Amino acid sequence: MDIRLLVPEWVRTLAPYEPGLPIEELERKLGIQGSIKLASNENPLGPSPRALEAVQAALPTLHRYPDGSAFFLKRRLAERLSVSTDEILVGNGSNELIELVVRTFLRPRDEAVMAEQAFVVYRLVTQAAAGVPRVVPLRDYTHDLEAIAEAVTPRTRLVFLANPNNPTGTIYRRHAWEEFLLAMRGRQLIVVADDAYAEYVEDPEYPDSMALRGDGTVPVVTLRTFSKLYGLAGLRIGYAVAPPAVVEAMGRVRQPFNVNGLAQVAALAALGDTEHVARTLEVNRAGMAYLTREFRKLDLEFVPSSANFVLVRVGQGAKVYEGLLRHGVIVRPMDGYGFPHHLRITVGLPEENARCIAALAAVLRGNPG
Ligand code: PMP
Repeated sequence: MDIRLLVPEWVRTLAPYEPGLPIEELERKLGIQGSIKLASNENPLGPSPRALEAVQAALPTLHRYPDGSAFFLKRRLAERLSVSTDEILVGNGSNELIELVVRTFLRPRDEAVMAEQAFVVYRLVTQAAAGVPRVVPLRDYTHDLEAIAEAVTPRTRLVFLANPNNPTGTIYRRHAWEEFLLAMRGRQLIVVADDAYAEYVEDPEYPDSMALRGDGTVPVVTLRTFSKLYGLAGLRIGYAVAPPAVVEAMGRVRQPFNVNGLAQVAALAALGDTEHVARTLEVNRAGMAYLTREFRKLDLEFVPSSANFVLVRVGQGAKVYEGLLRHGVIVRPMDGYGFPHHLRITVGLPEENARCIAALAAVLRGNPG
């Protein structure tokens, strides 16, 4: 039997997600050691030490199923965000919440509107659910909310926005966001505001996507994650804040134990680790300043970023990426995002940033490493 014939065409034509190359894989391939990874927007300081303690303390209970309602974490988040617990849904990474939104609200052939160069998972999960992704080009590397509003049709059920955007690091500002919400009034759709990198933003015009929640006009699902600022990417945990009816509907689709117990206690502890958060932001601020200063010295154009990564124009991106690998530096090539001349580099520790810049300078000078 030809198994491929059993696979629906919208699954058969899916281009799988390409994650950043793991360090172990690179070192095995090239027979090198001491490589660094600045490819997946992870926290270079590692996890919150308080989260590690909480995980250690919870290990003896691993034979138990986790709390399927994430009671303690939701209570803490609700206090912190001034929302009620029935406006919160916890997920196995915000990736799972993206998928849940789609599986809950998108019927086959319904449309989801998104930027052409935004987090690719929006497109993947839409297609996997037999939905139709409608993509809108960025303007100046930034979400063009006016064009996105114009791309909405009566068949549109979801709009995905990433603020800051991945992979460009750019943000849309409060005025544009409020105008966009006005334009969405009366439409039968849900707006997903993916704020995975919100905590890094310093711009005073950055909109709070939860602020107009509950005014009953446009349902907004805000997505946040513990993978970046809190350094818990490996545990897989994120959350959504949305109107209770949206949370209730998404809750029907989710698995009963979608978020593991270690992730729940780690997230709770990390939320209270103000020292780790402050150090993370400081390392990011200093690292971003260093990288962009060095890019200027190397005459490389970059996209000013509000997040913990930066898109830099290097010429032939794939070639420079390969060259950096030979120096033991993993960054993210951007061909798949339609930026063949760019690389996306995550801000690392000071020594990692310095090593990345030295390798980049060497590769651009023609030293293949
Ligand atoms: N949204 C955006 C914009 C991202 O960049 C990422 C991580 N790459 C995610 C969501 C998913 O994060 P996670 O599933 O680890 O919470």
